Amino acid sequence: MQIQFLGAAGEVTGSKYLINTELEDSACKFMIDYGMFQGAREADEKNQKSLPFDPREISFLVLTHAHIDHCGLIPRLCAEGFKGPIYCTSTTAKLIEIMLLDSAHIQVSDFERAERKNKLGKWRGEMPVLLYDTKQAIESLNQIKPIPYSKKFSPIKDIDVTFEEAGHILGSSIAVIDVKEKNKDSKRLVFSGDLGMFEKPIFRQPALIESSDVLLVESTYGDRLHRSLKETEDELVEILTNTLNRGGNVIMPAFAVGRTQEILFILADLIRRDRLPHLNVWVDSPMATKVTELTTACLDELDDDAKLLYQWLLDHKNKIDVRFVADVDESKALNRLKSGAIIISSSGMCQAGRILHHLMNNLPFEKNAIVITGFQALRTLGRRLVDEAASVKIMGEYIDVKASIHTLGGLSAHADRDNLLKWLKGFKQKPKHVFVVHGEPTASIHFVQTIRETLNWNDVIIPTLNSTFDIS
Ligand SMILES: [Zn+2]
Repeated sequence: MQIQFLGAAGEVTGSKYLINTELEDSACKFMIDYGMFQGAREADEKNQKSLPFDPREISFLVLTHAHIDHCGLIPRLCAEGFKGPIYCTSTTAKLIEIMLLDSAHIQVSDFERAERKNKLGKWRGEMPVLLYDTKQAIESLNQIKPIPYSKKFSPIKDIDVTFEEAGHILGSSIAVIDVKEKNKDSKRLVFSGDLGMFEKPIFRQPALIESSDVLLVESTYGDRLHRSLKETEDELVEILTNTLNRGGNVIMPAFAVGRTQEILFILADLIRRDRLPHLNVWVDSPMATKVTELTTACLDELDDDAKLLYQWLLDHKNKIDVRFVADVDESKALNRLKSGAIIISSSGMCQAGRILHHLMNNLPFEKNAIVITGFQALRTLGRRLVDEAASVKIMGEYIDVKASIHTLGGLSAHADRDNLLKWLKGFKQKPKHVFVVHGEPTASIHFVQTIRETLNWNDVIIPTLNSTFDIS
């Protein structure tokens, strides 16, 4: 058996792994995840690069979850000839529809804008390449095959797959794959996908897996510890209480998938526990609205506390007003709110979208607070706010930053070092082959050192991009 690391090797994005096996009846190639590279300019080049395999030869694809860095190139793979089934959990099957259509929409808009500018002679640099359009995204969705959690299924004779809870986002899974190769003992491959914190609100805990021959574990935050949920809650209570008491608004840029729902859950929970008064909350992002609807429609897949809280909310509708903003006019009407509003909007790093209007309107006043709820990459507007810029440029206008800026450090979709270790301790013995993936080099290297020191697992590998390993 061979495994090739076609993404998330020495970096966080672009997750995709190709497995090549010799089964009793035939050779079989299959793929785990097919994500987009994101970030710097090299990412575009990697996304466009021709494939080191023939997509028609891939029997099936196993998808751990619906984040774009795990599924975002699936329409391109299908357009290039992959015709096999794409297996994922039932909830991922619903979420991926929202994600891929959004991804196609962004790409088509960017491409059309570049074309318009180019015609006017105003485009500098290379023209963007359209990886896929909306039609291709819709066509690829026809290949999705939803499978319930913890239900073993067989994509092909001699290979069994089971999805277990990963606790990362809605529908996220760990993929457990048992392969019986020709004239060999059965081998178990475990792909952690992205793992959540064990104490993360809303989601169930990541499932512990007891045995594995080949393990791929993510390491996004393998070199750091997150603040505890309690500290994060205390911080949020203090910011909200102070800001609302002085007659200000609270603006929270948040990722539409996961983070927005987590914040809503935490706010409602703090009200339930009498730590916050009645709140007026606006969720201003069409995608966040869709994903929040999907989250409440999938209550069975959430943890018990989330189910209890949702029931409490239904019974205490007067305790919190959450309004989902429908169109741009309604969004602009929020500009009239001068105090007492909590506005959760995207994009999460303040690069585009409706959050820009809310920042323009609220940044110039001392009474308001901006609460940053997630990682802010270099050169984003969100990062400039975190770095205490005195003024920022938004849509061509310089805006003074007078509002107070706060960063909530404890909210993360990814397990930190200790939570990753806790998950690894679930294995009763060391897997024969351990690969640390999905991390920047420093995070992965530190995590490997921690694994050696804590678990005494010595031969742990950080694969490089496109490297191939023989698994005997
Ligand atoms: Zn993810």
